[in-house]
Amino acid sequence: MADQWDVVVVGAGAAGLMAAARAAECGARVLLLEKNRQAGAKILMSGGTRCNLTQATDTRGIIDAFGDQGSFLHSALAALSPDDLVDLVEAEGVATKTEPTGKIFPASDRAADVLDALLGRLDRSGAELASEEPVERLESRPPQWTLTTSRRTVHTRHVIVTTGGKSFPGCGTTGDGYRWLESLGHHIVRPRPALAPITVRADWVKSLRGVTIADVGVEVVCRPASPQSEKTAAPRATGEVIASRRGSVLFAHFGLSGPAILDVSRAVELHARPSSLALRCDFLPQLTEEAVGEQFQRASLESGKRRLASLLSTQIPRRLVDALFALADLPAERRAAELSRAERAVLVTAVKRTEIPVTGTMGFAKAEVTTGGVSLSEVDSRTMQSKVAPGLFLAGEILDLDGPIGGYNFQAAFSTGWLAGVAAAAALV
Ligand SMILES: Cc1cc2nc3c(=O)[nH]c(=O)nc-3n(C[C@H](O)[C@H](O)[C@H](O)COP(=O)(O)OP(=O)(O)OC[C@H]3O[C@@H](n4cnc5c(N)ncnc54)[C@H](O)[C@@H]3O)c2cc1C
Repeated sequence: MADQWDVVVVGAGAAGLMAAARAAECGARVLLLEKNRQAGAKILMSGGTRCNLTQATDTRGIIDAFGDQGSFLHSALAALSPDDLVDLVEAEGVATKTEPTGKIFPASDRAADVLDALLGRLDRSGAELASEEPVERLESRPPQWTLTTSRRTVHTRHVIVTTGGKSFPGCGTTGDGYRWLESLGHHIVRPRPALAPITVRADWVKSLRGVTIADVGVEVVCRPASPQSEKTAAPRATGEVIASRRGSVLFAHFGLSGPAILDVSRAVELHARPSSLALRCDFLPQLTEEAVGEQFQRASLESGKRRLASLLSTQIPRRLVDALFALADLPAERRAAELSRAERAVLVTAVKRTEIPVTGTMGFAKAEVTTGGVSLSEVDSRTMQSKVAPGLFLAGEILDLDGPIGGYNFQAAFSTGWLAGVAAAAALV
């Protein structure tokens, strides 16, 4: 049985839920098709199931965070700014809070509350949500679009594709949209994982799994040609720094994760030879190298009988302190006064500039977003309509648009979804 719609939205993630609700609110008869039983799977797992829905900034702050791609977002953010998004969620009864990092979460710390807010709005809009109904084919038959799903054939005047990228494929995001769009003549910028944990060749890192450090300065550096032992704490590369970030780091069985690591992972992913890179970590980024040296010297003069490792563990978790002593080839039970000036210098280097050899990233399986996707030059940023196939609209992560950790990616998905929904409905008349 064929059915006829004004607008069909494919993929009920952040962008699709918003696009479908807005198109319906603007008067269109809307069908939202979702592959999974549950809409918004990534919303539920986002931000450690707390959902960092946006960032406490203005539209300029969001645009800047997206770098060269940011200007594409002008119209979308004019349609739905970070403040508008917060108001929208709060209007559904979900209070929000801003953390010191600027990240905005539901005050309940429950991502499910954000999803419920979006589903509530969708329900009131009159759009119909069809779950467990994957789209298998998308064909242009002007002035109509035909979609073949697992259950039926659907006709529509306008289609909004919001199938996301290829990261976390277990969530349903297996890159289906790229295939359809390529066959319609779109250019797909090669999709690559971004915001992914980084794998390393250093057993001491893996042995610290579970340790989290709130503030680490992380740099991705090119290592010198001759590899040195991973046990060496001395600076090994004066190589180029290709990415840097300061933030929280988590030690894991495969290597490193946490916001600072995810944010620099793009540089590793896009590098021709990731194994030639290292992560240079500064475990006391709030202090200069000189200040750390002076602190050690003071400890040896004023608290000489105390173990330096115990003193240091007031600033850095003890398990990491022990690992840094081992890297510096110093016994952790050494008393502060027993350390020579040279040994203190080696320890300062371990604290401020430990280099960890990189092997790669965890790839699409664990990447929070996909970099690459539908080329922005082929999409009208004022409407999100394809310049290649009229009547086709695109929003969210399927676009060649990806931002850093901090709620930027959801903001882009919600704003482009909102604009696509409004524009697809407006273009019906
Ligand atoms: C673990 C994790 C944590 C994250 N945390 C945050 C965070 O806190 N803050 C933030 O800003 N960003 C976060 N992100 C990124 C954010 O989730 C994405 O950028 C955002 O979800 C993109 O929205 P989207 O609607 O474009 O795509 P998605 O949310 O990926 O939705 C795409 C939808 O399309 C459906 N679909 C795919 N193919 C088909 C098909 N053939 N037929 C029908 N349906 C289909 C999928 O099942 C899915 O529901 C996180 C991502 C991950 C993986």
